[in-house]
Amino acid sequence: MSKKKVIIIGASHGGHESAIRILDKYENVDVAIYEAGDFVSFMSCGMELFLEGKTLGQDTVRNFSPEELEARGGRVVNNHQVTAIHPESKAITVKNLVAGVEESVSYDKLILSVGVESIELNIPGRDLSNIYLMHGYDWASKINAAQKDDSIKNVVVIGSGYIGVEATQVFTQAGKSVTLIDMLERPLGNYLNAESTEILERAFVDAGVNLHMGATVEAFIGDEAVRAVKTDKGEVPADLVIVAIGVYPNTAWLKGTLDLDERGYIKTDAYLRTNVEDVYAVGDATLQPSIPASQSLPIALATTTRRSAFYLANTLFDQKPARAYKGVVGSSALGIFGYKFATSGLNQYTAGRIGVEFETSFYTDRVRPAYIPESDNPEVFVSLTFHPQTHQILGGSVLSRQDVTAQGNVLSLAIAQKMTLEDLAEADFFFQPGFDRQWSLLNLAAQDALGYKRF
Ligand SMILES: Cc1cc2nc3c(=O)[nH]c(=O)nc-3n(C[C@H](O)[C@H](O)[C@H](O)COP(=O)(O)OP(=O)(O)OC[C@H]3O[C@@H](n4cnc5c(N)ncnc54)[C@H](O)[C@@H]3O)c2cc1C
Repeated sequence: MSKKKVIIIGASHGGHESAIRILDKYENVDVAIYEAGDFVSFMSCGMELFLEGKTLGQDTVRNFSPEELEARGGRVVNNHQVTAIHPESKAITVKNLVAGVEESVSYDKLILSVGVESIELNIPGRDLSNIYLMHGYDWASKINAAQKDDSIKNVVVIGSGYIGVEATQVFTQAGKSVTLIDMLERPLGNYLNAESTEILERAFVDAGVNLHMGATVEAFIGDEAVRAVKTDKGEVPADLVIVAIGVYPNTAWLKGTLDLDERGYIKTDAYLRTNVEDVYAVGDATLQPSIPASQSLPIALATTTRRSAFYLANTLFDQKPARAYKGVVGSSALGIFGYKFATSGLNQYTAGRIGVEFETSFYTDRVRPAYIPESDNPEVFVSLTFHPQTHQILGGSVLSRQDVTAQGNVLSLAIAQKMTLEDLAEADFFFQPGFDRQWSLLNLAAQDALGYKRF
């Protein structure tokens, strides 16, 4: 029997997960990943740790090496960009970016995990030097050089989402004067409810970060290199700017071939099939079914990408898979200036934006019983987002100076299982005063949201 030819586009989380699962599960397959970049599978999730000198080196911060994939029976072809899909002949056009030549490659199954690109600011001064993005291997090299460059004293980070906040932390620790600018009034306002961002806001200020919130960036000022950033609230000096204002899908080349939404995200059905037969899509470039939102949304996370690729690999050759893809919750965690938080599902910002009815609660406590000294018993903050009538838990976050981020995964399970506040208030969790209180943190937060008197 001739081998089924599986072509994957993009050698990052989605491409890696698809390739290894397919190679493990099926015998008669020929799996090749085409990747436009040179360095294979740099893991941007590890970029902050690399910049902080906490890894084994830049080239180790990756999902996989070409040799590792070859050892499992697959191959990756780097410096090759796929420029077109031809559904009628089941072939793709691939451009060798080094030699400049094109070839046609056939497929039986085609999987796209083409990801997203960082949005650049299209404003006056955009061509000045020292305006950086924070995504992928090459930008990691440049940012690493910049943080060690003594001539760079003032850094402006535009965008206070995860990536901007990671950049803020890196440059603050490197001894630079950092200003964080956002149109939103609250840093991390897309990710956390207001009470949590208020706590983190103080941590930013205490660490010496200049917060420039609720400001619109209008221009970059300078001659050759950027010298300042002009906002509607004034000018901020800048020897270097990091732009981290969001992403757009890498799909312009697919317009007219695949069904895309108005922003360019790839639409799939419940089995992750695109509108073209034998062409599938996973990861950041797709709309992902969000369980708490009950609709498909862009969710740019390695976790959700891997889960969609895992499902797809397991069902790839089924005529009609026995079950649809369950969807995701969307969970993430971050350490920021001494605090650690994890957040899962929807928050007041995301729920509000997509028109989901919600209420929120905010619970403050100590991790362990009151007889433990405060020095060994830090404060912990839990925010819940839930439906006002059904009490279904739609989202939540935990925040503390202690690492309580694993509770974010408990919240994720509760959200995925569509549990209510009443379910969480009574859920059976362990108690041991070395770790927690007689009721566990999430029990207490749900009881509080339901109006029970403080335990
Ligand atoms: C700084 C940073 C930190 C992050 N931290 C985390 C984290 O801690 N946790 C988390 O869950 N997520 C994190 N993420 C998000 C995570 O990196 C992404 O969700 C994940 O990489 C998405 O994987 P993907 O396979 O969909 O796409 P991508 O990682 O974007 O990869 C797509 C690949 O496809 C290639 N490609 C695109 N078009 C073509 C084409 N036409 N032909 C050939 N190749 C092509 C690209 O070169 C790229 O290598 C972070 C992202 C960044 C930037």
